[in-house]
Amino acid sequence: LRQGTVMEDSNYCFGEGGAGTFSDGKLFTRATKRGPVREVYEIFVAHGAPREILTDAHPHIGSNLLPSVVKAIRESILSAGGEIHFNARVEHLLRSADGRRIRGAVCADGREFAADAVLLATGHSARDVYRMMLAEGLALEQKPFAVGVRIEHPQAFVDARQYHLRPDRKRPEQLPAARYSVTTTIRDRGVHSFCMCPGGFIVPAATENDEVVVNGMSLARRDSPFANAGFVVSVHPEDTESFRREHGVLAGVAYQKALETASSRAGGGMQKAPAQKVEDFLNGRVSSSLLPTSYHPGITSHPLHELLPGEIVWRMREGLRQFDHKWRGFAGASAQLIGCETRTSSPVRIPRDPATLEHPGLEGLYPCGEGAGYAGGIVSAALDGRRCAEAMARQMSR
Ligand SMILES: Cc1cc2nc3c(=O)[nH]c(=O)nc-3n(C[C@H](O)[C@H](O)[C@H](O)COP(=O)(O)OP(=O)(O)OC[C@H]3O[C@@H](n4cnc5c(N)ncnc54)[C@H](O)[C@@H]3O)c2cc1C
Repeated sequence: LRQGTVMEDSNYCFGEGGAGTFSDGKLFTRATKRGPVREVYEIFVAHGAPREILTDAHPHIGSNLLPSVVKAIRESILSAGGEIHFNARVEHLLRSADGRRIRGAVCADGREFAADAVLLATGHSARDVYRMMLAEGLALEQKPFAVGVRIEHPQAFVDARQYHLRPDRKRPEQLPAARYSVTTTIRDRGVHSFCMCPGGFIVPAATENDEVVVNGMSLARRDSPFANAGFVVSVHPEDTESFRREHGVLAGVAYQKALETASSRAGGGMQKAPAQKVEDFLNGRVSSSLLPTSYHPGITSHPLHELLPGEIVWRMREGLRQFDHKWRGFAGASAQLIGCETRTSSPVRIPRDPATLEHPGLEGLYPCGEGAGYAGGIVSAALDGRRCAEAMARQMSR
């Protein structure tokens, strides 16, 4: 990324530990009914995460600590007899002679791995895996997702509002960088903040070189002078109608991709992202100058109100006005938009039998995690992984 290019098999979304490795590491989840959240936290602590995550109301590991946690998890897998194969992109599935049962997987370099069961947890950016499944005649379904931008403010602005500080007062050192969450519904579509990163950075999260995708992260100390959050509008399958004729069930993926390539062109290359001050976005003006940002590859002034679909733009504008009404300055002179945030969740669900958790079209194939549409973050993906592994073990022991 320092050279402005994306390594397509190893980036913020792909590689050891998946998207979680360079994520923000916020572990707060609403998925408390899906399984033993505490055990997930304990596994992280056993592999080097700070003990405070066991007691904090909003546990957070931080992007600088996560890679060593992932390495420690690798050591546990190896010492328990597991194997890890790097540079092993799966391109085909092997099946029994009658085609009904899985028999393993074939990698891009021709290596074959025989297996009686395969857990497919390739994340929401593995678009080649969705295409592979369709080519193999395996059903997929469209599901809602959300797109928009990252909104960035000075962290001091967020601190002042959340801690009721006078504008000339800094946040006392013993208080953490303040967070926020905003949400509303505007004509049947959710408009909300997503993955807010106090004291954080906006990061490039593209997986191919012709696209720009932004996301957020923060270090354990959360001490950058910026606060950023996804600011997104939900997209329902019917909103992707214009892509359906050509792309069928992958219409949502094509919708995302169109925004990502448009963002790349508007940014001008080298992973630069298009940006606009919020006030200019609201007034339909190109920003003549931009505000400082945490996004390292750089930003280029561009009318985001022309880049994003009209039905997203008017809802974002209405949402910004509503939030600014409640929180003066949220859409004010210190706020800037950076585009586009498209990978909030998977636009596809890989169906599975509710009892066995296997794909209805292939025995022994267990679609799992965020890419299959059953998780929306680190903890829910971990819980789903555990559920699928247990289902797999039950089935194999029969
Ligand atoms: C910058 C960033 C910040 C984030 N911050 C947070 C946060 O603070 N809190 C939170 O809860 N969530 C956060 N997330 C989201 C979180 O990381 C994901 O929800 C979670 O990692 C999903 O887990 P998963 O196991 O389903 O898939 P992933 O973590 O996406 O893992 C998929 C894995 O499959 C591999 N793969 C893909 N295709 C193939 C193939 N063909 N063959 C073999 N392997 C393949 C990939 O290399 C990868 O290792 C963030 C994500 C990003 C990108």
